Amino acid sequence: MKLYVKTFGCQMNVHDSRRIEEIFSAAGYSMTTDPRQADVALINSCTVREKAWHKAISETGRLRKLKRGRRDVIVGVVGCVAQQEGERIFDLLPGVDIVVAPDHYGKLVELVEEVRSREGALALTGFDRGLPQDFLIAGPPPSRREATAFVTIMKGCQERCAYCIVPTVRGPERHRPIEDVESEVRSLVSAGVVEVTLLGQKVNAYRRGEAGFADLLRCLDSVEGLERLRFTSPHPRHMTSDVTSSFGNLRSLCESIHLPVQSGSNRILSRMGRRYNVEDYLLVVARLREACPSIGISTDLIVGYPGETKEDFEETLALIDRVGFCGAFSFKYSPRPGTKAARLDDDVPADEKARRLDAVHDRIESLERQWRKSMVGARLEILVASAGRLPGQVSGRARNGQIVNFVPTDGKTIEDLVGHLVEVEVIAAHSHSLEGKSVIR
Ligand code: SF4
Repeated sequence: MKLYVKTFGCQMNVHDSRRIEEIFSAAGYSMTTDPRQADVALINSCTVREKAWHKAISETGRLRKLKRGRRDVIVGVVGCVAQQEGERIFDLLPGVDIVVAPDHYGKLVELVEEVRSREGALALTGFDRGLPQDFLIAGPPPSRREATAFVTIMKGCQERCAYCIVPTVRGPERHRPIEDVESEVRSLVSAGVVEVTLLGQKVNAYRRGEAGFADLLRCLDSVEGLERLRFTSPHPRHMTSDVTSSFGNLRSLCESIHLPVQSGSNRILSRMGRRYNVEDYLLVVARLREACPSIGISTDLIVGYPGETKEDFEETLALIDRVGFCGAFSFKYSPRPGTKAARLDDDVPADEKARRLDAVHDRIESLERQWRKSMVGARLEILVASAGRLPGQVSGRARNGQIVNFVPTDGKTIEDLVGHLVEVEVIAAHSHSLEGKSVIR
């Protein structure tokens, strides 16, 4: 039996899709990237971004056509959208057989078999108020050697930002025991993983008993063989001084952070319900830079939020310059059904939102270019991941998150280097990556 999974959304969805593949692979399925070969075809979609859901709808339409030739193919929708829409998906997308929300992935194979053996569709939504089952699946299959892995440490969010549907679709916060996280990381490291990214909707709000997020970072830093530790997405309100001082102090914690700010206007931050102001954010940035001067800070920005005036937007541009972000995911605001913000007047015209987004892109791109240029001549440690941009090159990420392409020396091939750390001297900065040469010792 073959499984096809298509993912639309954030890193959390990408991670969940991997978990789903692991669950099916443990049940004897093999994976396919060709939906025509699939016995089970799943769409995993985020509902936070309107665009992701629209793409998912058209992909589901394509998959449903498969059923014309092969009625035994099971087509399913999973992810936040499954939690939010539930059985409504069957009306919206006829031909879908199964709808399963994130807390029930552990039962997916069973549910697919149930649908196969009976007439009619099946939806399973709602939250597992204890520890969601997919927390409990540890490690990659022994046959799959990968150098990087994601580890979920918490689920859900109680922050209730006005524009965000996550608290509704991912439920209340549930935090995994520190010893479970440590044991999963140890098992990944013994399977060849050298870089772990901790995942959670509000990852740095992690707390279990007496242990907070900084304690978890310290605990994982002591795992022998774990060379790199990252986390996403933190909330500025929970960047306590013990977390900021972990940068530069903990050997494995990489010199990069994605810290969503969303707006540079205190008025808009308050309307968004973010519960911090620009001054709080800048204090966190100052602490991070004090602890680790070379840290790369990227962010998320929303433009055209209801009520955002030209002056508010100018404050966002000023904040971008003041922080010197090295990258950003920026979006035009679009109301998501079921959120508090959807009840506000979406009063920034579409062409003005587009203009503001372009202005943000230009500003961020210019900062990115400057940041990349500043690295020329530096020596960076690269974790090799794949073939590079040009023939003969290999590619990987530096600890600060930058992609570096370089030609390996002393006859090394991509097969020799994938999953290994290599020291590279940066010789040029390009628009989206760096170019380097291996340092020969
Ligand atoms: S912190 Fe805010 S934006 Fe992030 S998941 Fe929670 S509610 Fe959504």
